Amino acid sequence: MSYVPSAPPVGDEIFLLKMGEMVLKGLNRRTFEERLMGNARRRLQKYGKFRIYSRQSITYVEPKEAGCDMDGAFATLSRLFGVVGLSRAKACEKTPEAILETAKTYLHDDLMAARTFKVESKRSDKTFPMTSIQLSQYVGGELNEAFPHIQADMHHPELTVHVEVRDFAAYVHGDPAPGAGGLPVGVGGKAVSLLSGGIDSPVASWMMAKRGVALEMVHFFSYPYTSPEAKDKVLTLAQLLTPWCGRLTVHVVPFTKIQEQLRLHCPEALFTLLMRRFMMRISERVAQRVGAHGLITGESLGQVASQTMEAMAVTGQVCTLPVFRPLVGMDKEEIVRTARKIGTFETSILPYEDCCTVFTPRHPKTHPKLEEITEAEAALDIEALVEEAVQGIERVVLDP
Ligand code: ATP
Ligand code: MG
Repeated sequence: MSYVPSAPPVGDEIFLLKMGEMVLKGLNRRTFEERLMGNARRRLQKYGKFRIYSRQSITYVEPKEAGCDMDGAFATLSRLFGVVGLSRAKACEKTPEAILETAKTYLHDDLMAARTFKVESKRSDKTFPMTSIQLSQYVGGELNEAFPHIQADMHHPELTVHVEVRDFAAYVHGDPAPGAGGLPVGVGGKAVSLLSGGIDSPVASWMMAKRGVALEMVHFFSYPYTSPEAKDKVLTLAQLLTPWCGRLTVHVVPFTKIQEQLRLHCPEALFTLLMRRFMMRISERVAQRVGAHGLITGESLGQVASQTMEAMAVTGQVCTLPVFRPLVGMDKEEIVRTARKIGTFETSILPYEDCCTVFTPRHPKTHPKLEEITEAEAALDIEALVEEAVQGIERVVLDP
């Protein structure tokens, strides 16, 4: 049931995407492939028209019109979850001589830099006059003459020259560049991610998206205690995540009234925990509305007073959906490294107050008991506060 394209690509380059572990998933494989292709199609829209199809765990991306932005498209595809490696391949005529010439020029710099190499050929056009092995031997032998410094090594070559003889042309490419890895966004369901302006929650969101989870973002905003710049910063962070996650909706929740009520009626040492319980309750409401099946936070065990095991138990207790904390076992240093890699770090460290920092108690409770928490909450009309906050939600949609 392999798909045969009905027309040749326009231009002389195409992309090959190598799919990762999703290939192992048996019957789900087709669903995963479809999702990957759909995600690729959507992300590539602004770079031109492309034909996208999968064959033998490779997804082919071919320009359908002149003037496609190939550099932009390649950069975008390198952030597409579900792809472990991606190559840019050069088309040429289907003759051994043309293939050799293309390998020499297109991979010239790679051939100069490598000390060992091998050639690997594939033929989907079985009318080609050489077998794959004969073609590899021919191209390998000739390359060796043209680049005498490089040695053939069939087992651990520094460079593999790939040749593919296909329906409309032959293609030559070198080793694939690393892809984003993970699973295509959407195959893992949908979850609501609690996004603050800090370093951690963008990384937590990214990690779950990498596992194929489609995200809806929730941000709690305490105007005038926090500035409009603090909100813009969070929207910028969400925007920075879209090249990885695709289009994102940020649900901005007005949180001021809840915080003021807490300050008026509850013991200061419990502020943070009570606040976080409200965040979880409201996020669960959002999840119900958008059909999400989990919540995500950027908590890491022991990082601050509200991130002890007891504190997490107390905050998770108000909701029935599973709470995912992908950073729970990570050190700050590892989190920072990831934040730099995905491009959120510089924005996260901009100095705008978050609603949590504004109301931080001087002596926060680190080992709370559920009874004292529920006792403190008895002074509040929880349902009314949650409802009012949900009613006041503002939605911002961000495109990659
Ligand atoms: P971060 O770096 O993500 O801000 P943090 O180490 O500062 O995390 P806390 O402030 O205790 O930790 O918050 C823990 C988690 O609660 C955050 O990672 C985030 O998921 C969520 N959270 C905190 N503040 C907000 C907010 N204003 N809006 C949405 N979610 C929030
Ligand atoms: Mg924070």
